[in-house]
Amino acid sequence: MYKLTNPYDGKLVSEHQYLTDIQSTQRIGVSQETFARWSVLPLKERLKFIKTLIFVLTKQQQFLAETCTLEMGKPIKQSISEVKKCGLLCQYYLDNAENFLNTKQIDTDADESFVTYEPLGVILGVMPWNFPYWQVFRFAIPAILAGNTVVVKHASNVAGSAKLIEQIFLEAGFPEGVYQNMLIAGDQVENLINNPIIKAVSLTGSEKAGAAVASAAARQIKKAVLELGGSNALIVCKDANLDDVIPIAVNARMQNAGQSCIAAKRFLVHQSLFDEFIARLKEAVQELKVGDPMLKDTDMGPLARIDLAEDVEKQVNRSVAMGAKIVTGGKRKDAFYEPTVLIDVTTDMPVFNEEVFGPAVPVMPFDTFEEAVTLSNKTSFGLGVTVFTKDILGVKKKIHLFEEGAVFINAMVKSDPALPFGGIKRSGYGRELAENGIKEFVNVKTVYIK
Ligand code: NAP
Repeated sequence: MYKLTNPYDGKLVSEHQYLTDIQSTQRIGVSQETFARWSVLPLKERLKFIKTLIFVLTKQQQFLAETCTLEMGKPIKQSISEVKKCGLLCQYYLDNAENFLNTKQIDTDADESFVTYEPLGVILGVMPWNFPYWQVFRFAIPAILAGNTVVVKHASNVAGSAKLIEQIFLEAGFPEGVYQNMLIAGDQVENLINNPIIKAVSLTGSEKAGAAVASAAARQIKKAVLELGGSNALIVCKDANLDDVIPIAVNARMQNAGQSCIAAKRFLVHQSLFDEFIARLKEAVQELKVGDPMLKDTDMGPLARIDLAEDVEKQVNRSVAMGAKIVTGGKRKDAFYEPTVLIDVTTDMPVFNEEVFGPAVPVMPFDTFEEAVTLSNKTSFGLGVTVFTKDILGVKKKIHLFEEGAVFINAMVKSDPALPFGGIKRSGYGRELAENGIKEFVNVKTVYIK
């Protein structure tokens, strides 16, 4: 039995018990049985359940949002947006899944040749706590629509949100076993991967967990998709308009108390704008309302756990010991860490060369665009980058220089159901969302008839 406490006030939220290995084996047996029926349902029939799911998500929106806010401290307005976004994702696949999964006729020397997309079986998702609903939905919905069934091992600190997801699938009328929550510990995951019923795995989380899961999958010759950490740069070119940049930059770094893989974690600012940028960033960051995440006007709550706030504190302190200067913030109280801006940063400091999963940002000046690209790429990660500029044509010609899964110009990096999402380098491999996402867990079957 383990206890979940609210990171805002330390009070007990709920108690949970991990499934035993025997119980989890039984559960995946149910998923396997359901797969036999679910996979042969026409896609049109599967889509009807998604339609109901959108309705249930809307009906349960407030409860879902409050549960996640209680468990991991996300400001309630952001939790509500997250639930809404899950609905948008369902609607996107409702509108597009048939087109993506249709048999594709291909012209060859055969009398007829075509490609079909067939489900693989039971797919395992291993998910993080930072967007407890969104991460799960973007994995599960396309996988399920493609005809697979899924089991999800969610992060232990959002066990209540995890249970709710299974409940809303059942409330939407999905047959038992299409979506199952597996309340297990990280060290029980390998057992699941070794089970022949599990056909593939998708993990969103840290490099450490990603490496463990991908190695276990590789030993069984099973496919893995990895969505891991990031340290995106946000580049402010000399022609950028700071009125536009500042609010987006603050949101891109401080949203969800900085706990987002695609957050802008390093600001690179043209030296001609540097002093003004710092002054305005400081002002904007100090205006953020930090406090009770259940209140509608709170911009930033606590981090999801005290140890996570301590990690950020250590990264900042180690950087300060190496010569970085704090412009604002820099203090921790329990799970709260102040929104923090640092200057005089060098590339060997933890706030630059590690992923900082919290509300602290280093700001560095650059001279030429090439220098900004070099600094941007100077990380082991490759999820995304933002460039603010008026010279869109000029930057478009240089997009290939960025070692990233996404380049956003004049906007913060965000996920959109219609656009593929994923990284390169140590940010992982594979793609979620869009057509790419729904084709990650299918057998692309070639048929040739003479
Ligand atoms: P985490 O510690 O790696 O946990 C993620 C999931 O993996 C949890 O369910 C966790 O279970 C499980 N896990 C941990 N160790 C494992 C192991 N050895 N074997 C199997 N499963 C294991 O990551 P987190 O702290 O929750 O999330 C933060 C990280 O995720 C950051 O690096 C962030 O950038 C990344 N992330 C990436 C994306 C993306 O799309 N690229 C999105 C969101 C987050 P327990 O909770 O039970 O330990």
